[in-house]
Amino acid sequence: MRDVAVVGGGVAGASVAYHLAQRGASVVLYEREHLAAGSSGRSAAFIETLYTDADRVRWTQYSSRLYEQLGVPFVQNGKLQLAHDEAQLARFARTLELREDDGARVVGPAEVAALAPRLRVDDLAGAVFGPRDGWLDPPSLIDRLVEGIDVRRQEVADLRAAGARTVVVATGAWAQELYDVPVVGERRTISLFEDEDVRAGETPLVVDPVGDDGDSLYLRGDGGRLVLAGFHSERHGRDEELVPLLAARWRDPDALRLRGGWSGLYPLTPDGRPAVGEVEARVVLLVGLGGNGIQLAGALGRVVADLVLDGGSDLLPDPARYAPARFAA
Ligand SMILES: Cc1cc2nc3c(=O)[nH]c(=O)nc-3n(C[C@H](O)[C@H](O)[C@H](O)COP(=O)(O)OP(=O)(O)OC[C@H]3O[C@@H](n4cnc5c(N)ncnc54)[C@H](O)[C@@H]3O)c2cc1C
Repeated sequence: MRDVAVVGGGVAGASVAYHLAQRGASVVLYEREHLAAGSSGRSAAFIETLYTDADRVRWTQYSSRLYEQLGVPFVQNGKLQLAHDEAQLARFARTLELREDDGARVVGPAEVAALAPRLRVDDLAGAVFGPRDGWLDPPSLIDRLVEGIDVRRQEVADLRAAGARTVVVATGAWAQELYDVPVVGERRTISLFEDEDVRAGETPLVVDPVGDDGDSLYLRGDGGRLVLAGFHSERHGRDEELVPLLAARWRDPDALRLRGGWSGLYPLTPDGRPAVGEVEARVVLLVGLGGNGIQLAGALGRVVADLVLDGGSDLLPDPARYAPARFAA
């Protein structure tokens, strides 16, 4: 009998399997379609660390370092967290006190324009720039994480039949099919544009706040003259027209041509925080990673491996904040 069966072949399941195997556990990973078939394969795959929540900073910096070490292709041309006024800039700059130094710093509008020449900057107070942030290819990341793992293409319909001492549920937006946890899939769309200026494809990650509650326009160069953009919100039922937001931020919106796009699901809990922890003897959940799962999964996979093998993790100082049981009340 295996020590652990992990259900779900997205970044979450792959990272759990990786960290368990690193510690010598015998693991089987079940995926009913193919690796990266769910949200992970439809992601914009920003790896960003400029958060103002201490857990998010700790987790995303851990993930980013892990992905660097794994040697997966990882484009690190930085992230600009734009700020529209001084109060917003001061709020975003709080990340500088929370993080392990990686050269992140506050920059003015002129430097924003130098780093991302296709952006309009005249309405900005500045930005926080994280030089090591970037993006990667989730299927390549998952392939690397599961190297040497026994991966089976099989649906798990019953946790008791998974054939292992412990079962980890990492089934993203489909979590409720296996366990009674309030995770729902919220559709989000990415659009791909081509610009007439070749510098567009080198644009670093850009996050431009829409209001003050975490909603944002996001974009990044995608090589060549391509730019990928979307509207991010972790609030339920919230969506906004992308094109006017992008037109307001792009220096020359008439130069953009829509070339395609796709949709996927953000796996969201009611409060937007992941659901992580044991829910009954030898059943552990890692679901509800929302719109930031690629960058959170590196660390949360380690957290779950620690929970399975040790019962606690130094990367999870406040387990109750993420415990699936918080929804029971
Ligand atoms: C448009 C879009 C843009 C995004 N942009 C970013 C971004 O820039 N940065 C970022 O960090 N995150 C981003 N995300 C979020 C990120 O993609 C998700 O949070 C993350 O992929 C969730 O990973 P997961 O492994 O939990 O779920 P998934 O990748 O969905 O994996 C779950 C897997 O479980 C399998 N499965 C389900 N039920 C069963 C079963 N019973 N038996 C066997 N297998 C099963 C599914 O087939 C699926 O492959 C974005 C998401 C979307 C949709």
